[in-house]
Amino acid sequence: MGPLHRCHGCGPLHSAAEELLDTADELTRLAARRTDACPVPWGVCPEHGATLRSTAGRCWCTASDCLRRWFHDRLGEPCAEPVTHRVIDADGDRIDFCDGHATDARARILGATVIPLC
Ligand SMILES: [Zn+2]
Ligand SMILES: [Zn+2]
Repeated sequence: MGPLHRCHGCGPLHSAAEELLDTADELTRLAARRTDACPVPWGVCPEHGATLRSTAGRCWCTASDCLRRWFHDRLGEPCAEPVTHRVIDADGDRIDFCDGHATDARARILGATVIPLC
């Protein structure tokens, strides 16, 4: 068993196993997300909508009567709030949002209809 023989094939096998692990990680992460989670790829204040500011990994709501703070960059992370509203835009496209994103959509999307889901 020379060094060439010992190493033959182990490199590719190793990286394939790593890829499998990565994939499994990804699947676990996706499965952990609620199926009814808001699809928007950034966070909002659950009450005020797109009022967040973030710096240095912290995040806060800028509404004057809101005391919400997060010690992570909520603004830069996918929204994981449960969907509570259906927003239908002027073209009839519909998408389900959480409280905060529905508030934002109501203010931002012209002609949008926002319907509570429950
Ligand atoms: Zn707020
Ligand atoms: Zn949301």
